Amino acid sequence: MKINEETLQKLIDGARNACKNAYCAYSRFPVGAAAISSDGAISIGCNVENASYGLTMCAERNAVFAMVGNGRLDLVCVVIYTPTNVVSAPCGACRQVLNEFGSEIRIVSICDGPERIDCLLSDLLPLSFGPQNLTADNKSAEGQRGKQNQKSQSR
Ligand SMILES: [Zn+2]
Repeated sequence: MKINEETLQKLIDGARNACKNAYCAYSRFPVGAAAISSDGAISIGCNVENASYGLTMCAERNAVFAMVGNGRLDLVCVVIYTPTNVVSAPCGACRQVLNEFGSEIRIVSICDGPERIDCLLSDLLPLSFGPQNLTADNKSAEGQRGKQNQKSQSR
């Protein structure tokens, strides 16, 4: 699915709107994101922080999790918006989560300045580890035996 300018603008609007709902009481760094699946459904998310810090969740992951919750897995593009002068790329954790749904996902990051990131996830996460690494063909013979042993022990 190619994202035309009209669709891209919808995603930008979605990310900007989600950003207004960001719960960023600690960082004061609001982020909004919008994800689109191949059928054109758009899911949005914002960052949600937590007093424990470690339980904070990023906007783009929340957008993708909402997409999955809406029964869609075929992620095509994610737009990320920060109300800053300088554009921000997705963090490493988000890159890994996005990679679960394909390495050729288009990533667009925008801000209030003229800068923009527009690339493929594979540009941000080269040599990635993903679902393809866990296919039966890719697992070691030893790993396969371990699995068989576990089965026989559980009987
Ligand atoms: Zn992140």
